[in-house]
Amino acid sequence: MRYPVIELLLAEHAANRAGESFSLVFADIDRFHATNEAMGKEVGDQVILQLARRLLEVVGNRGTVARYTGDEFVIALPCVGSDEAAALAEQVRQAVARPMRLPSCEVMTTVSVGVASYPQRVDDIGELLRRAEASMSRAKQLGRDMVYLYSEQDMRRIEDRRMLGMRLRGALQQGELRLEYQPQIRSSDQAVIGFEALLRWTSAELGRISPDRFIPVAEGLGLMPELGAWVLDRACAQSRQWLDAGLGDFFVAVNVSAQQIQRGNFAELVTAARERHGLPADRIELELTESVLMENMERALSSIHQLSASGVKIAFDDFGTGYSSLSYLRQFQVDKLKIDKSFVHDLPHDSNSVAIASTVIAIGHQLQMEVVAEGVETPEQRRLLIELGCDALQGYLLGYPMSAAAVESWLRDPRRPA
Ligand code: C2E
Ligand code: MG
Ligand code: MG
Repeated sequence: MRYPVIELLLAEHAANRAGESFSLVFADIDRFHATNEAMGKEVGDQVILQLARRLLEVVGNRGTVARYTGDEFVIALPCVGSDEAAALAEQVRQAVARPMRLPSCEVMTTVSVGVASYPQRVDDIGELLRRAEASMSRAKQLGRDMVYLYSEQDMRRIEDRRMLGMRLRGALQQGELRLEYQPQIRSSDQAVIGFEALLRWTSAELGRISPDRFIPVAEGLGLMPELGAWVLDRACAQSRQWLDAGLGDFFVAVNVSAQQIQRGNFAELVTAARERHGLPADRIELELTESVLMENMERALSSIHQLSASGVKIAFDDFGTGYSSLSYLRQFQVDKLKIDKSFVHDLPHDSNSVAIASTVIAIGHQLQMEVVAEGVETPEQRRLLIELGCDALQGYLLGYPMSAAAVESWLRDPRRPA
């Protein structure tokens, strides 16, 4: 049995009052790790003890308080519906927030609290616990020291992600992943300068799923280093094959996720992948977003230095959608900026978008970077971007993402619009 106290309570509840609601309240101390570190484990233990006393006081005979793990407590509330449980959770939060007088010092601490309820009967206690914990995590994300209760709709979305995650784990082994390649065209002479590799997943059970949906799930599960390594390897292999076929002088660009940088040996992995396929450095490019850089300042900086030294070019993807683009531009010496498609979308009619596009192009050029626009869909967008001095273009107007085989016939097609 995985949750002994709660299972026991539940059995009792089921025996006595079938058909009535059941709620769980999940409380986790905020920054407990920091308290332990700053004040010592003994003080940490006393905080847990005081907290337990306060929880018992608030709950009284309405339910049972159980210590779940280190600084996590679960309160089981038989015959209590979601409104009453949320009210009790708020009392818990307030009770904990009062200063704690300990033998050696006074401590201020707070908890983040999640609530989950079954209105009539409990089908699955593990599921209820997961919901309460997920609600607690959301409370932490929203700033801590608060109560959160996921709506049914939210819970369905979380479930959906969990289901996607379970399928995604097997996707690589089952050969459900592949890459498509979208061309980048130089403005000055319409030459094909590269292809961006884009990951595709067609699940046997769920059909085609877009990367905007499954990549966040993969990140949540920590699968991105594995998927990213596979993408890098396939992209290098493909790039080498096209080089051997003499199809032209172009690179393959690979998107990099934050988790790949977190590992710390990213530059070595790139070099190893290149060497495995005998691929020259100028045949591969890496696309990093601002959030990738932001989450891993130090590691990103050192990876970028190493990669640049090895001759691999780096592009700043989705530029303009993050927070403090300019300070990153100063710190990170990248070779290219990709103007995010959300800015391209409203060209040429929206004057703000025109101002942003022309400013990004000017900044990029001042910093000796090439500027690429993504999401170019109309001839008007193309004309304006070229007029503004944008160096290269990518988008449905110039070419859709294609399979490797389709790229080959596309490149050989004499009627390809240039
Ligand atoms: P991204 O790197 O910004 O990729 C460009 C996205 O814009 C692609 O979406 C592409 O299909 C789409 N696109 C291209 N031209 C147009 C256009 O003219 N109009 C519009 N509306 N969209 C256009 P996709 O393939 O759905 O990928 C979405 C995102 O998923 C990518 O955005 C990238 O952040 C991520 N991604 C895709 N493959 C990988 C991968 O292998 N690794 C990682 N870490 N992320 C990936
Ligand atoms: Mg990209
Ligand atoms: Mg992009």
